[in-house]
Amino acid sequence: MIGLCGCWGCTLSFLDMDSRLVDLLGKVTITRSSITDIKRIPERCTIGFVEGGIANEENIETLEHFRENCDILISVGACAVWGGVPAMRNQVSLTECLDEAYISSTTRPPGTENVIPHIDVPRITTKVYPAHEVVKMDYFIPGCPPDGDAIFKVLDDLVNGREVDLPTSVNRYD
Ligand code: SF4
Repeated sequence: MIGLCGCWGCTLSFLDMDSRLVDLLGKVTITRSSITDIKRIPERCTIGFVEGGIANEENIETLEHFRENCDILISVGACAVWGGVPAMRNQVSLTECLDEAYISSTTRPPGTENVIPHIDVPRITTKVYPAHEVVKMDYFIPGCPPDGDAIFKVLDDLVNGREVDLPTSVNRYD
């Protein structure tokens, strides 16, 4: 599981599977998640769960590494599927965006005029991209966030070797 530019709400929805999560964990091992917080998966994985849009160069590297090392990638949530809330910044130029954040912001602490991001902060991309515009994605679970029921249905189908069939009752676009 990787979280790119999102809010971790989709990961919380994953936990909404409640007791079904216990059953699922009898069949799968979670190699990477917000709990383990390792930067790169140490071994090839069958399923990659991708939350968040792509907003900086580190997001791109993380997603590309995931693509190379996962058999199946699932785009989970509006941010991964089409950019979601982070993509609101696509309405303004990168220059305006950086100006608002680092120069003109009314919440900028005194004495920090013209302070630019530290070199360790990943360079942001000119726009926020959905995951499938960076690498091939195999499945999509829309919603902000998707229901735990929807996440469970897709994972349960995959783990049990069934064709993924997400019913419209849990296939939301809000
Ligand atoms: Fe958060 Fe919604 Fe984006 Fe999921 S889709 S990461 S819940 S903003």
